[in-house]
Amino acid sequence: MKPSPADTAIWWIRRDLRLADNPALLAAAQHGRLIPLYIHAEAADAAHDEAHAAPGAASRWWLHHGLKALDVQLRALGSGLHVAQGKAENVLGQYVREHGVNAVYWNRQYAPAQIARDTRIKHDLRAQGAQVASFNASLLNEPWSISQGGKNDRGKSDAPARPYKVFTPYWKACLKQGIEHTPLPAPERLPPVPINPLAGIELDSLQLLPRISWDRGLTTAWTPSEYSAWSRLRTFLEQALSSYPEGRNLPAQAGCSRLSPHLAFGEISPRQIVHALRQFQATHPALDDEAVRVFLSELGWREFGYHLLYHFPHTLDTALNPRWEVLQWPQPEPQLWLAWTHGQTGIPLVDAGMRELWHTGWMHNRVRMNVASLLVKNMLIPWQHGERWFADTLVDFDLASNAQGWQWTAGCGADAAPYFRIFNPVLQGEKFDPDGDYIRRWVPELAALPTRWIHRPWEAPAQVLQSAEVTLGMNYPRPVLDLAASRQRALAFFAALKQAPTAV
Ligand SMILES: Cc1cc2nc3c(=O)[nH]c(=O)nc-3n(C[C@H](O)[C@H](O)[C@H](O)COP(=O)(O)OP(=O)(O)OC[C@H]3O[C@@H](n4cnc5c(N)ncnc54)[C@H](O)[C@@H]3O)c2cc1C
Repeated sequence: MKPSPADTAIWWIRRDLRLADNPALLAAAQHGRLIPLYIHAEAADAAHDEAHAAPGAASRWWLHHGLKALDVQLRALGSGLHVAQGKAENVLGQYVREHGVNAVYWNRQYAPAQIARDTRIKHDLRAQGAQVASFNASLLNEPWSISQGGKNDRGKSDAPARPYKVFTPYWKACLKQGIEHTPLPAPERLPPVPINPLAGIELDSLQLLPRISWDRGLTTAWTPSEYSAWSRLRTFLEQALSSYPEGRNLPAQAGCSRLSPHLAFGEISPRQIVHALRQFQATHPALDDEAVRVFLSELGWREFGYHLLYHFPHTLDTALNPRWEVLQWPQPEPQLWLAWTHGQTGIPLVDAGMRELWHTGWMHNRVRMNVASLLVKNMLIPWQHGERWFADTLVDFDLASNAQGWQWTAGCGADAAPYFRIFNPVLQGEKFDPDGDYIRRWVPELAALPTRWIHRPWEAPAQVLQSAEVTLGMNYPRPVLDLAASRQRALAFFAALKQAPTAV
């Protein structure tokens, strides 16, 4: 049915803070009148998931600035952001009843609690007579659209389709199905918001920003906005893509895209990234295909995380591998946890990563794997503790990628590193930060140490330490654990998995 000019639609804004390639916005804009609505639900009302009742502090910071930037963009087109607070079902129901809204559109989210909430809301709004539709705006392919099996050798379906648990065949199937989609254009004009601003609330009143201002590092490192996402993508394509296969592993270099928080808040979509990548490739014939392949497969890991989350929703806080249940974890040792979270373990690569995280809300992927491995394996602290710390401190916190990253490193997820793979942060540092630049940047106490000792200061001769003004135990900690002994302890602990009933 064609909308009449009196029809009013809501674009329910969630993690899709952008105007371009936004199917929910476009659908809503085709109605006569449009309310771009952000609904803030506090902890008890937020359908986030079981493990995280509300967004973490770093995500709240990003959300505040991202919404501000979106409001500026909307105003430039003649509209504006409308903010409300409360349980989404109550707020939307109220707008349908009291503000003449007869259509609600949103882009999908995939955590189990979000799916349950959205299904409920769809049902309720339709019962109130409103038109409702949801769209995929954050993935290359819907998590349920890729599956294995279900076909016999004559190509006919004779077995139930099963989700993938191994990345490589999953990604092959995605590529076969197709990951190229033409992104949707941004609207050129939008109608004015047909509702008294007083019906909503001020963004500032949500108090998303920290009360004590610890966010200076975040402000220096990031500019949340759709515009800034595109500027980062362009810089990456021009300056880093060609050396991405090696550069992505070097934490001291700008070798990766740093698009993750923009993706997490939907300031750019993976479809837009793939499209821009293909255009760039077409105009740069000398570009090595391998660089494009590797970068695309990293986007594939993000997709895989959502595939797993959708099909195995318990994996947000429970191991995918049921064998893991046999492990009897010791009580976490508080001093180890404190040292890890504060970047004071005395192991330079780990401390550099944890301080980078605290300061900027982001940590390089290579270092994430190292700090996670140290926590779960050398310290024997269950991965869920680290997962929650990351959820609070990462600006790119993403339910699916975070759970997947932690389970992969711990060894209990899909396609995971085996339990006996224990990262050695000294060797990893020497390999991926050979000049020690990453350490010098984030652990300035060690800046004057010669490169030979920078990843293992406890082995440096007293004279070397003295001339670099490093006093272990005074201005930089001695290691809180012995890497070799804690590795042996971990191997003995995880050996129980070999006796557990189902395959790892
Ligand atoms: C313990 C642990 C926790 C993690 N938690 C998160 C998280 O909460 N949010 C998050 O976005 N990523 C997470 N990752 C994955 C990865 O570390 C980040 O996506 C990456 O560091 C982001 O930097 P980038 O944008 O420069 O990535 P690039 O190398 O430029 O890759 C481009 C994009 O591909 C995706 N991507 C890259 N690597 C991975 C990966 N291993 N898994 C899933 N997606 C990937 C991201 O969306 C990224 O922005 C985690 C990894 C580990 C080991």
